[in-house]
Amino acid sequence: MAGVIKKLDKETLKQEIINNLKTLYRKDVSEATLQMVYQAVAYAVKEDVIDNWIATQKAYDKAGAKKVYYLSMEFLVGRALGNTMLALKEEDVIREAVEELGFDLTEIEDEERDPALGNGGLGRLAACFLDSLSTLNYPAYGCGIRYHYGMFRQKIENGYQKEIPDDWLKNGYPFEIKRDEYACEVKFGGYVATRMENGNPHFYQKNYQSVRAVPYDLPIVGYGNHIVNTLRIWDAEAITSFRLDSFDRGDYQRAVEEQNLARTISEVLYPNDNHYSGKELRLKQQYFFISASLQTAIKKFLQSHDNIRELPNYVVFQMNDTHPTVAVPELMRILMDEQGLGWEEAWAITSKACAYTNHTIMTEALEKWPIELFSRLLPRIYQIVEEINRRFLLEIEHKFPGDQARKDRMAIIHDGQVRMAFMACAASFSINGVAKIHTEILEKQTLRDFYELSPEKFNNKTNGITQRRFLLHANPLLADWITERIGDKWITDLSEVKKLGVYVDDKKSRQEYMNIKYKNKVRLANYILEHNGIVVDPRSIFDVQVKRLHEYKRQLMNILHVMYLYNKIKDNPDMPFYPHTFIFGAKAAAGYHRAKLTIKLINAVADVINNDASINGKIKVVFIEDYCVSSAEIIFAAADVSEQISTASKEASGTSNMKFMLNGAPTLGTMDGANIEIVKEVGEENAFIFGMSAEEVIQLEQNGGYNPMHIFNADQEIRRVLMQLINGFYSPDDPERFRDIYNSLLTGSNGDRPDVYFILKDFRAYAEAHERVDKAYADEENWAKMCMRNTAAAGPFSSDRTIEEYVRDIWHLKKVEVKL
Ligand SMILES: *Cc1c(COP(=O)(O)O)cnc(C)c1O
Repeated sequence: MAGVIKKLDKETLKQEIINNLKTLYRKDVSEATLQMVYQAVAYAVKEDVIDNWIATQKAYDKAGAKKVYYLSMEFLVGRALGNTMLALKEEDVIREAVEELGFDLTEIEDEERDPALGNGGLGRLAACFLDSLSTLNYPAYGCGIRYHYGMFRQKIENGYQKEIPDDWLKNGYPFEIKRDEYACEVKFGGYVATRMENGNPHFYQKNYQSVRAVPYDLPIVGYGNHIVNTLRIWDAEAITSFRLDSFDRGDYQRAVEEQNLARTISEVLYPNDNHYSGKELRLKQQYFFISASLQTAIKKFLQSHDNIRELPNYVVFQMNDTHPTVAVPELMRILMDEQGLGWEEAWAITSKACAYTNHTIMTEALEKWPIELFSRLLPRIYQIVEEINRRFLLEIEHKFPGDQARKDRMAIIHDGQVRMAFMACAASFSINGVAKIHTEILEKQTLRDFYELSPEKFNNKTNGITQRRFLLHANPLLADWITERIGDKWITDLSEVKKLGVYVDDKKSRQEYMNIKYKNKVRLANYILEHNGIVVDPRSIFDVQVKRLHEYKRQLMNILHVMYLYNKIKDNPDMPFYPHTFIFGAKAAAGYHRAKLTIKLINAVADVINNDASINGKIKVVFIEDYCVSSAEIIFAAADVSEQISTASKEASGTSNMKFMLNGAPTLGTMDGANIEIVKEVGEENAFIFGMSAEEVIQLEQNGGYNPMHIFNADQEIRRVLMQLINGFYSPDDPERFRDIYNSLLTGSNGDRPDVYFILKDFRAYAEAHERVDKAYADEENWAKMCMRNTAAAGPFSSDRTIEEYVRDIWHLKKVEVKL
């Protein structure tokens, strides 16, 4: 079928599904389970994907096009079937075929397990970027790890989070293809030996352990353009088992160790978001997928080029945070030890091929590996890092002679540790932050010395989200409504949505728009009833905070405010109060005790309030179990209010703020991350902004914080809420349960200052902002306008815009057309 793409017709499709059921499971349709039908449909869709995939790779080879390798420990891609059907424009015919076979397409889609190969925003960003790269016709590879267990599944038991292993591969993942022929070897440990070759020392590793890196390819399907890029995730296998038969005890021992190494390396994703844990296995994972990805990239490059010096003209490596920064010394190793280049030449290539994205200014998230661990695990790589550091310090000396303090501040190896962010900065030709304010803070504070050394490297790329998943797929009612009015160009050019502006002043349009919101709220209410057993009123205000649980994101401030409102309503049963449903969704890192206790607190408050008949359901609190990409899709479409309340300066960008905005939920938030740009686009009057500015927070931190006791003593309502944390009000069986939270706010604990995240300091401003929301919501007509203006102003927050900026300023890729 070379060159022709068949448009799927319904009857062929039905036959294919029936055949797939037969060959995969030896079942006919009447006996098949939903899971089996899902697999059968997925395989039918995959056939079309593969035709496009092959055509894309041919077109790239023919064009000799430059490629970006997006290196990331995480890709939170979400379900593939729905997205793929939309991208191939096959959803309708597949729905009909599936229905005629007696099934419901939504139910079939729900059978797919989310490949949850990421924690939160950083991994989801990587997934949105791949979607945009494909849709915009840019050659790209995602490079990551095929964790056997992704982000844990969250169960709430007795109000506590319980982590359940995410066995996402159990039924087989139909969209992946194992590419054994591209397997390669990755070496750990041992020592570095030297031999002379042509009068030069040649370094090589001896007595190492190695694993076999085996790639699995996932298709990333562009929207309606036949482009299919590749997300290549690496799995580890033992290199051979033959050594197990060896009579040599040393070999036998090593073989067993290698088996174990292979078993553990790609086993599980570390569930820490924005937090460095310093685990040896984590560094192994990093080097494992980086070495495999780079070896393969270089090999592929050399198949069509004979001069390795040309590499930066055809390949760029984008490092998503510091996690992949061993790419720098690994590329140096390949260029010197395998390609025979000298240091200067290798460095000239490396520093033109590597670019770095910073994702956080929080010190606890910065990776610093102990020298002992780093050099033991990666002896040759460590030698190279030492030399990078030595030369880097000379460069600083050259520009700032005699400034020893500066050298100490900037050294890559310092105080017994390898500072990964500094290595990334020293080696990269581009250093970018992910929102305007974040990049400014990097330049002025966090990476100031690096900015002074090389200001030209710094640039901003405000994050974005893909409208294909978060509007077209997640909110079909609104998507159709928009298309009816402005056509469907917005699907690949989100700036089009500003044309919706003219409908803001049309009463009928407003009614239709809000009616869609209502239907989406009913959908979410049904989901909540089914998953939580809680009845919520879709006419209440859906006030939503969904994101990883982290102190800086201040879910605690949100629930304290709910407690405060509840007290008010109890005291004044007749006060006017529009019913609210406060919706939370969040996973806490498994070892993050205070975060887990905050989940318990939210559920404890929910228990008391939801069961208090005396308040007539004026407040409901819902904690949605297992927040993940597929539940997110249902939640954003149904939100009235978007809670984006991080302590200013702490949230580098945020992306859920953009998903809410696109789906027409005004932001209730601080001037942090991309909130600032959102407010600028939509206008302050269409958002609810409160609290300290980033500058004020940083000032106060530099002054050693503040004393929350003054607030506790002066503000009776706040005092009462805090006392309810320790008087058993929400925890009669154990009044001490929430003592740690109380202490963290008032006295500090574990050597921390009290209220590190300024919750009490911002509380009154937050409560006042809520009052503004309630008042605005009461004006139905104006509220509808605000919501519509948010959708209409969301154009700049498409990841398509972000990717075009990366291409223009950093990657310099050219679009490739695929004709079938
Ligand atoms: C968008 C998204 C995030 C990021 O949310 P923030 O509020 O920006 O932290 C995390 N998890 C999932 C599942 C998402 O879709």
